[in-house]
This record gives sequence, C-alpha cells and structure tokens, in this order.
Amino acid sequence: MEPSAALKGNAEREGGLEVAREPVFPPPGPIPASTAEPLAVAFQASTAAADPASDTHPGASEVVVPEKGERAEKPEKAEKPEKVDKPEKVERPDKTEKSEKSEKAEKSEKEANVPSSSEKAESAEASSPGGSEAEAPPPTPIPVQRLIPKLVKSAKLFAEGKKLIPNGSSSLIRTASYDPCPPYIARGKGARIWDEDGNEYLDFNLGYGCLINGHAPPELVKEVSAQAELGFHFASPTELEIQVAKLFQKLVPNAERVVFGSNGSDATMNAIRIARAATGKDGILKFEGHYHGQHDYALISAEAPPLVAGLDEYPRPLPNSAGIPQGVMDYVMVAPYNSIPAVERTIRRNRDRLAAVILEPVMANSGVIPPAPDYLKQLREITQQNDVLLIFDEVFTGFRIAPGGAQQYYKVQPDISCWAKAMGGGVAISAVSGKAEFMDLIAPGRISYGGTYFANNLSLAGSHANLKLLIKGGEEMYAKVARLTERMEKGIEHAARDAHVPVLVQSVPGMLQFFFTRRKKITNYREALQMDWNVYLRHQELLLDKGIYIHPDGYERLTFSTAHTEKDIDQFVDVIHQTLAEVRTLPRDTFS
Ligand code: PLP
Repeated sequence: MEPSAALKGNAEREGGLEVAREPVFPPPGPIPASTAEPLAVAFQASTAAADPASDTHPGASEVVVPEKGERAEKPEKAEKPEKVDKPEKVERPDKTEKSEKSEKAEKSEKEANVPSSSEKAESAEASSPGGSEAEAPPPTPIPVQRLIPKLVKSAKLFAEGKKLIPNGSSSLIRTASYDPCPPYIARGKGARIWDEDGNEYLDFNLGYGCLINGHAPPELVKEVSAQAELGFHFASPTELEIQVAKLFQKLVPNAERVVFGSNGSDATMNAIRIARAATGKDGILKFEGHYHGQHDYALISAEAPPLVAGLDEYPRPLPNSAGIPQGVMDYVMVAPYNSIPAVERTIRRNRDRLAAVILEPVMANSGVIPPAPDYLKQLREITQQNDVLLIFDEVFTGFRIAPGGAQQYYKVQPDISCWAKAMGGGVAISAVSGKAEFMDLIAPGRISYGGTYFANNLSLAGSHANLKLLIKGGEEMYAKVARLTERMEKGIEHAARDAHVPVLVQSVPGMLQFFFTRRKKITNYREALQMDWNVYLRHQELLLDKGIYIHPDGYERLTFSTAHTEKDIDQFVDVIHQTLAEVRTLPRDTFS
C-alpha cells in the first residue's frame, strides 16, 4: 500500500486507532527496578536520535560515510554489552517433537482438570508481570538503538534526501514507518538484498510483491539488457507487445483481451472507466481496507478509523488524502469485506447507480485476509443478478497465488481484471484484461486509453522473460512457493507458542502475514485493526537487526519468490524464535 498506509501508521502512533486495539500481552506490571531506568533512558536517547529533524541524528552529523560496498564501522559510543549484541538463542528441542509433546501434556493435564502448562505459565506471568527476579529475562535494549550503528550511511542519505524529496522518497510508504531510517538498498540478488552500509538481508518484501522470481533473475537481466541495446522505447506498436499478450493469455484463463499500462493504479483507474462506459452508470462499490492505488476513486476508505467511519455493516466512505474532491466521494460506496448480507443490501439498493464492484479478491493490504468460503462465487452471482460488473484487482494476487491469480485459484470469473506487480517481476508494467464485449469498447471516440510509456519495450522485455519463467516453472514451481509459505506459517506458529506470544498467522500461497493479536481469525479490515501495530513495528526492527527484511507496517505482508529456498525459510524461523522471545521482554510502555 502507498501513502494512505503511511497515514494509517501515523494515526496509529498518534493514538487515532487505539480504541479498536486489543492488548496482546498481560497488562504491564512495574518494570523491575534493575531494568526500568536504563530502558527509559535508552528509549529517550534513541527517539531523540531517530527524530528526522534532530541534529543529533547519528547519520546526519557525526558519522563518517564509508566507501560504497565498505561495511560501516560501528561508532564506539553505540557499542552494547555482549549480552545484547548476541541475545541468547532460545533453547528449543526439535520443533515438531516439542510441540507434539507439549500438546499431549496439555491434553492429559486438561483431562485431569489441572491448569495446563501454558495456563500455568500465563497465570505466573499475570501474577508477576515482567517475571520474578530470578526468572526475569535479560533486559533488552529497544531495537532502534541497535539499528543506529548499522544504518550509518542510510541515515545520512535519509537526511540528505529529505532536503530534496518530500519525506525522503517518491513513495511515502518507503520511508514513513521506518525508525530510525529505512535501509537504503544498494543491490539485490535472488532472495537477498544489501544496503548501502553493506548489511545483508533476506528479503520477504520483494518490492511489495513484484519479484516473483527474486532479484535480478539472469533471464530477465539478459532480455532487458538485449532490449536496451536495441532501444528503450519507441512509442509505436511492436511485435514484442503481441508476444507478451500471448504469454499473458496462456497464464490468465479469462483474458479475451488485454491492454498494457505502467502500474497498478493506472490499471484500476482504467478498469473503473471501462465499467462505467460499458454500463452507462457512474457509481462504484469498494470494500473497506482494500487498496487500489493512488487515483481519487481508489484512495477512499483504504483505511478508515471506525470512530468516524460509521457502522460495521454500513461504512461511510472516507478520503485517504487531502485533495480528493467531495464530488468524487459521491460516486463511491463502501462495504465490509467478507459479509455477503451487507454487500448484497448495498448492491440491491443502488443497482441503478452502480457500474461495478471492485475488490482485492484476497485482501492483501490489511495483512492477508482470504475470502470466506464461496464469498467470491456469491459476489459473482449477486453482481450478475443486479447488472453490475465485477472487477477483480489482481495487482497483488496475479501471477502470485496462482499464475491466473485469485480468479483461477478460486474458480470465479470477473468481468474485468487488473494486473501489475508479479506480472513484470520487477519492471514497471500493468494490464487490464477481460471480456471482449467490454474491452473492445476501447476505441477512438469511445473509451480513451493510452500513455506515453505504456507497453514500452524495456518493460515488455522484462515481463516477457518473467512470464516465460512462470510458464516454464508451471504447477511445480507454484507448488514450491506454496510449500515455502506453509513452512513459514508453521514455523511462526511454533515460535509464537514457544515464546508465549499471541500471534495469528494467515496466508494464501505466496503471501502471508502474522498479527500480534489474541483473535483466532481476521476476516475484514476492522478486525485487522485489532492487531497490536506497535508491537509489530518494534518486532520488525528486531528482525531487521538480524538480517530479515519485511515492511514495518502490519497491514503489509510477507511474500515469497521462486528464488527462496527451504533453508531461507528455516533461517527466518530461527530468527523469529529469537525475536519473539525478545519482544516478550520489551516493557509494554515502550510500545505506546
Ligand atoms: N491494487 C492493489 C491490490 C495493490 O496492492 C496496489 C499496490 O500496492 C495497487 C493496486 C496500486 O499499484 P501501484 O502501486 O503499482 O500503482
């Protein structure tokens, strides 16, 4: 998600959404005297250091920038005690063995009507928050302090960038929630990236889900380089465009016609226009928490604090940016995802005004929230019964959860679909596809469509190589990505159980999110708000410190590529065993 996501993050931290949040840890007890003072001091010091405007920002003033590729020397004053640099690895016997054992033990304890071991552990924690003196885990300095010495050049670049580019980057989400600063990435290969300070990370953000074949796959490098030699961009029709359209049709079952663009936002904007032109109606219905890009009709209720967004069943449309005219809002209706009665009521009442329903078939911008069983099928039926078109925004799901996206995975045929991200595997390309009866309305004097850089040759070359890889990999490759997703899901669940941290994991093949919450399931945007965003943010900093790259905001998600291996997943799982144990030791008041 883009700037609207950043707004959500800020609102969270300013307390705007606190009301909906369910605490995930026992209420904070007094911090043991031995820990309280150093932690408080460390926190104040680090937040001062992280303040972008502050001259004390370590990257901004006192740091010598290493040469490119050279690893930054850690400034002496940031050195930490040994214990802190290498937090004790959580001892755990073989994962499966242990969890099986503990499940059996808990079952027999329950049968004997005695508190289970985990209940005992929880009640011990509740009666002695922070643990008894003897059992207290070693104090953990807050993560941001650890990151400062690692992100020396990044901090300097961030300070410099902010003088030129608002918020330091041309997409707010790239900098907004990072504390003390985002790592400035210098290069990537396969599943790994390296920042300007030389730190290596295992990447699960993958350019917000684009890099289905990992960073710089040789096949893409070769074809894009060859095209660069021939010329970047002609703004003329090319044979390559036809070739990419053929590959696209091979992978996407429902694409009678396809047109190309540059990014997901232009795809959803054009899909909505096609639907309006085809039906002669102006209204669209979208879902709360669904993100469809940066144009005015999309940036409505992608986030919506419930206090001002109205009743669960009848959300009020809210703009997610200054500058969206009220007139635009008048054409957008909003419904809660995964509730058939709610959406059916709104569609029935507004059938004469509604051109289309647009949705993320799997919600991927409030964590990962799959559709309820048969939800998409029922939505298809209701839209058909009411002469309303159905648009699947497959920008995130396309070429990821299955080659033909969610429509293939769930076997539901929308009228129009939007694609981007994994279609290019890292180059800027998007597509709108659908039935000929709608798509063929694109013609002079009817529906306008075009853009100078649409279907430029460099992007087409990259997408051509990427789609060929997906076709070659076939079902086996998608099955591998699904296995990696499942392996990580199980690994996180084990780690959370071991660390006694309430975590919910939700996934579909190729993408996953974990939520710090006691909920057993998250089915829509408002339930997603009940995760503890601040713990997620702090935990992300612990992961980054240990070489795992995910986005700091809990409404993003982790993605997988064909370049990831089981070993990579196991590395992540080992790390998260440590970080979840560590996050447990952070005092609650660090998080608010
Ligand atoms: N639709 C969905 C589902 C998305 O996730 C995104 C971006 O995250 C978009 C549309 C907008 O795509 P882009 O950022 O390429 O404009």
